[in-house]
Amino acid sequence: MNEEIAEIFNEIADLLDVKGVDFKPRAYRKAARKIGSMKDDVKEYYEDDSLKDIEGVGDAMEDKIEEIIETGSLEYLEELKEELPSGLIDVMNVPDIGPKSAKKLYEELGVEDLDSLKEEAEAGNIEELKGFGKKTQKKILQGIEMLEEISGRHLLNEVIPIAEDLIDHLGPKAEKIEKAGSMRRWKETIGDVDILATGERDELMETFVDHEEVEEVLVKGETKTSVRLKGGIQADLRVVEAGSFGAALQYFTGSKEHNVSVRQIAIDKGYKLNEYGLFRKDDEEKVAGGSEEGIYEELDLKWISPELREDRGEIEAAKEGSLPELVERDEIKGDLQSHSDWSDGHNTVFEVAEEAQNKGYEYIALTDHSQGLSVAGGLTSEDIKEREEEIDEVNEELDINVLSGIEVDIKKDGTLDMDSETLKELDIVLGAVHSNFKMDEEKQTERIKKAFETGLIDIFAHPTGRKIGEREGYEVNVSEMIQSAEENEVVLEINASPKRLDLDSLNAREAKEEGVTISLGTDAHGLNHLDYMKYGVATARRAWLETDDVLNTRSYEDLMDFIHDRGDRDG
Ligand SMILES: [Zn+2]
Repeated sequence: MNEEIAEIFNEIADLLDVKGVDFKPRAYRKAARKIGSMKDDVKEYYEDDSLKDIEGVGDAMEDKIEEIIETGSLEYLEELKEELPSGLIDVMNVPDIGPKSAKKLYEELGVEDLDSLKEEAEAGNIEELKGFGKKTQKKILQGIEMLEEISGRHLLNEVIPIAEDLIDHLGPKAEKIEKAGSMRRWKETIGDVDILATGERDELMETFVDHEEVEEVLVKGETKTSVRLKGGIQADLRVVEAGSFGAALQYFTGSKEHNVSVRQIAIDKGYKLNEYGLFRKDDEEKVAGGSEEGIYEELDLKWISPELREDRGEIEAAKEGSLPELVERDEIKGDLQSHSDWSDGHNTVFEVAEEAQNKGYEYIALTDHSQGLSVAGGLTSEDIKEREEEIDEVNEELDINVLSGIEVDIKKDGTLDMDSETLKELDIVLGAVHSNFKMDEEKQTERIKKAFETGLIDIFAHPTGRKIGEREGYEVNVSEMIQSAEENEVVLEINASPKRLDLDSLNAREAKEEGVTISLGTDAHGLNHLDYMKYGVATARRAWLETDDVLNTRSYEDLMDFIHDRGDRDG
């Protein structure tokens, strides 16, 4: 419910911006950020009649939240939408188009949806507008292309929790049940939720459509039922025979490329492989099908983790017995990027640390922003000292090691947004690029390398700056960046936030091959974001990373040794 409300409030803010309303959009965005990152369900506040305890929620917003909870929609939003073309929201989703540009495009060129935007851009009419230009027009076309790619797909955090909930709901009725599809491979964006089960067919299908999140039953068939969930995501349940469960799971997990290669191996060995099983070609005898392991084994392959099934060398490795021993979620001993209310996080140091302790972690790095990032209320070296006192107290009180860290801005010229004395006293230093995204590749790469060469950065955060479905990263030569990280012993991050997953699996794999250590950080700005670690681990697994490749599998002592060994520091 929290994310739903946050989304509606953000939409309201965008529409108010287009209308040219002052102040109100900011208030809605602020409340959306707060609600979107709260750990507790807004419904609990609603039930206790305490919605106004939420920061930024006044009378007007309280009414609106109540309406959303009670009816699932909001009249006010519908009215706003009627005043403006509904496609304008999509237009504002294009990177580089904010509410102000959308308004201008609408008023001067009549752009009211993505189609008309594309037409105007292709016709070259946008570059004629004051304040736009050729470069912006090109960016807009690239942005539309990116949106077309992601259309109909969803981020992991929108899909995985629902899928797990559905599986819990069905579990007691099923003999076997598993996620399938790209979701089981933990691809960064997911189309539909695919679930595969064995058990009593009618009962399973009934239970499935009974789930409270199901809004509409699309198809209810013999072997497959499809529904649309309340958030608009489609979910499919397939019920198969126990003797075919492994074959169906293998088949529906994909990827297509992986399956083509596996089927070829089957053919070469005189078999036929399909979703029902592995059959001998000559007498049609079924030799495997109940389990995936059985099928791979019959083909003289080791079982391959779903995250690797992209036809990127995993089949050869399975043949040779040289598959990686992938890092596991329960090997992660801490979170190496988080933010408290000292910068733009929503929780106190104590709250963040306590939640991390509840997760069973040995340590958590508090990496609030430096002051250069004015929007994030960044820290000065004075603030750092004050925060240090608070961290010391929390370290006394709780049974977890809170690292005093920072996410220091790398400035345009590659210097850092904080003096080196302060940085050297900190437990851990993350560096990051948050501005000047439009530099050309050569300059951007130089900027980053120069920052690495200061020796002051332990970890380079979200190394390409991309946000899935929102914006491409900055232009950087990733291979050169990896080389420089290796030379300067800089750790590269896989940012576990489902919007980022940056480095992505291909780049992280290249980093590993070049001998660069990878760290995982959730970039939590609220307590619920600490749950994102599983998405970071999944990306690490898709990158073939093993335990030793990942910095946060180390114990607290080993982590501190690692950081001390790589740079010179006072703390
Ligand atoms: Zn950042």
